[in-house]
Amino acid sequence: MGLIVQKYGGTSVAGAERIKSVASRIARARRLQNRIVAVVSAMGDTTDDLIDLAHQITPDPDDREMDLLLSTGEVMSCALVSMALHAIGEPAIALTGAQAGIRTSRAHRRAHILSIDPERVTRELNRDRIVIVAGFQGSTEEFDTTTLGRGASDLTAVALAAALSADLCELYKDVDGVMTADPRLATGARLLDEIDYEEMLELAQQGAKVLAPRAVEMAAVYQVPIVVRSSFNDSAGTLIHEGVKMELRNKVRGVAHDTDVAKVTVQGVSDRPGISAALFEPLASLGISVDVIVQNASSHGVTDLSFTVSRGDLGRTVRAIEPVAREIGAQSVLASEGWAKVSIVGTGMQHAPGYAARMFRALANRGINIEMITTSEIRITCIVEAKRIGDAVATLHDAFQSDEASP
Ligand code: ADP
Ligand code: ASP
Ligand code: MG
Repeated sequence: MGLIVQKYGGTSVAGAERIKSVASRIARARRLQNRIVAVVSAMGDTTDDLIDLAHQITPDPDDREMDLLLSTGEVMSCALVSMALHAIGEPAIALTGAQAGIRTSRAHRRAHILSIDPERVTRELNRDRIVIVAGFQGSTEEFDTTTLGRGASDLTAVALAAALSADLCELYKDVDGVMTADPRLATGARLLDEIDYEEMLELAQQGAKVLAPRAVEMAAVYQVPIVVRSSFNDSAGTLIHEGVKMELRNKVRGVAHDTDVAKVTVQGVSDRPGISAALFEPLASLGISVDVIVQNASSHGVTDLSFTVSRGDLGRTVRAIEPVAREIGAQSVLASEGWAKVSIVGTGMQHAPGYAARMFRALANRGINIEMITTSEIRITCIVEAKRIGDAVATLHDAFQSDEASP
C-alpha cells in the first residue's frame, strides 16, 4: 500500500463542481490501494480577495491578523473537499495546518516550517481516513496562525510528503505539467516528461510560477519525487526527480519569466571598498532580497550601481537607500517599475559556448533592448521592458526549440 500526498491548487478547487471532481479524483486514487493525504489551496482568487478586503479596512494591516485572515481561505477549501468526500461515501477528515502538526517560525506572512509532527495525520490514516490538509499555513509554538508565503501550498505538500516518507507527491494544477515556457506566453510550449531538481529550481526561481521555489528546494533536500499534472485531464504530467546527471542533458531546458521586477540605480558613487556593503546592509536587515546587481566600470573613481528588487519592496528599498546614498556622497537614487526578466535555463549549457550570444541576437532581432544581464552556471537572464516580455519569451522559445528537443 502506497502513501501519496496530493495537492490541489486554487483553480482546481474554484467552485462546488470542481471540488466534487477533486473528491472523485481522490477517491479514485484511494481505490488503487493508496493512503491519501490531500493538501488544498484557497478557492480561485480567494487569497487576493482577502488581501484586497484587508486593504479596504486599513492601508497597513497587521501581519499577525493578516495571517489569521488569509489562513481562512485554505480552511474553507479543506472543509469543503472533506464534505464532498463524505457525500460520495468516503471517510475523510479535514485538518488545519496546526492540526496537521506544522510548526513554523514567527515570521508572519513568510514563516518557515520548523518541524512537522505527523502523529495526528498518521493516526487518521491508520483509521483508514483520507486526510485533507489546509495548505499554506502552520502555527507557532504559541498557537498563533502563520502563513508560509504566496504559492506555498506546494511547500506544505512537499513538506508533508517528506515528514510522512510518502512514496510520491502529486501536484494538481491547471496545466498538463511543467512546460518548456509559460503556455500563456509561448503558444508552442511543450510538456516536459521529466526534469531534475536543479533545473526545476532554477526555472522556479526565475519566475516559472508553476512551482514555488521553496517546494522544489525541499523536495531536493529530502529527495521527494514530485509529479506535476492537470486536475482537468488524465495526462501523465511531469516527473521532477534527481534525474540523470550524465552527458545526455538538454542544453536549454526551458524559458522562464517574471514581471515582478523593479530597478534602483544609485548614480555617482565613489569606487572604494565598503560602498556596496554600506548600501546593501540596510536592505538585508529589512529582509529585502536583492536580485540582479550590476556595477558599471568606474570612470575617474566614480561609478553607477543598479539592482533589482520585487515591486512590492521598491518603496521600502528607496527609503532605506536614500539616507545611505547621501552619507556616502552619491549623486542620486533613481527608482523605476515596468521591468521584467527572462531566462533560459539548462544544465547542458555550462559546457557549451555561444548561448549568451544566441540569446542576445534573438532579442536584438526582435528589437528588444537588454537593460541588465546576469548568469549562473546553468542560466542566462536578461532584464527587459515589461511591455516586451511576451515577445521576449516567445522569441527565445522559438530560438532554442531545437535545443530543448535534443536529448
Ligand atoms: P496552482 O495555483 O495550482 O499552484 P499556479 O497558478 O501557481 O498553480 O501555477 C500554474 C500556472 O503556472 C499555469 O497556469 C501557467 O500559466 C504558469 N506557468 C509559468 N511557467 C510555466 C511552465 N514552465 N510550465 C507550466 N506552467 C507555467
Ligand atoms: N492561497 C495561497 C496563495 O494564493 C497559497 C497557494 O495557493 O499556494 O498564495
Ligand atoms: Mg501556485
